Amino acid sequence: MIQFQQVHKSFRVGGHEVPALLPLDLDIVEGEVFGIIGHSGAGKSTLIRLINGLERPSGGRVLVDGEDASALDGAGLRALRQRIGMIFQHFNLLSSRTVAANVAFPLELAGTPRAEIAARVAELLARVGLSAHADKYPAQLSGGQKQRVGIARALACRPRILLCDEATSALDPQTTASVLALLAEINRELGLTIVLITHEMEVIRRVCDRVAVLDAGRLVESGPVADVFLHPRHPTTRRFVSEAE
Ligand code: ATP
Ligand code: MG
Repeated sequence: MIQFQQVHKSFRVGGHEVPALLPLDLDIVEGEVFGIIGHSGAGKSTLIRLINGLERPSGGRVLVDGEDASALDGAGLRALRQRIGMIFQHFNLLSSRTVAANVAFPLELAGTPRAEIAARVAELLARVGLSAHADKYPAQLSGGQKQRVGIARALACRPRILLCDEATSALDPQTTASVLALLAEINRELGLTIVLITHEMEVIRRVCDRVAVLDAGRLVESGPVADVFLHPRHPTTRRFVSEAE
């Protein structure tokens, strides 16, 4: 369970505090796929970066399984981040490492024994359908394959939560569909909680159970995806819904 309690965030820009997120309350339930949609600059990345402590709130609390993420540092923060995987729009792979070595990287950092790493990497590559590409370098892969490496790497330390920041925004529609299907499978089979940012309502419709709509730092709407599609209340939500039709 991830709980935002009166969380807000401002950034200091040129001597001024500029709000990125206005005070919001939000609960993300264990095992669900939760979507966050909003236009550029709405505060989506800021919101999910608060979950793994990449950002600290200016006020309020972010609780992950009851633990205050905003109060952790050092070993506590490292332990939290091991329970939370993250994937990105531009994949963020290490270009000088092979596919297998990219997936092994977080396991090496965690001090996993070598023999165990090899077995775990093989298992992860099989899960994302890349067993035949283990020895290639990222530059030799398609966008969809790169994101599958990103997913395998994010799952390496057996996290309970996966954060996806525009994970399909750089992919064509067909590749997007296959990456979303993989995320849905991971949610179903491993029971991971997935928090997924997008600016496309179609992505929300395909995989999310519930959705929150951010508009200029404000949480303007949230609820089950079917309800939000049928009865969008806020003008921003209506616009997203009509774009998906
Ligand atoms: P996009 O769809 O473009 O990725 P977003 O919804 O993820 O946008 P955020 O990156 O969360 O938006 O940014 C929200 C607001 O906070 C923006 O106005 C942005 O300029 C500002 N912001 C984000 N990070 C910083 C930072 N480190 N320093 C100053 N301002 C920031
Ligand atoms: Mg962003």
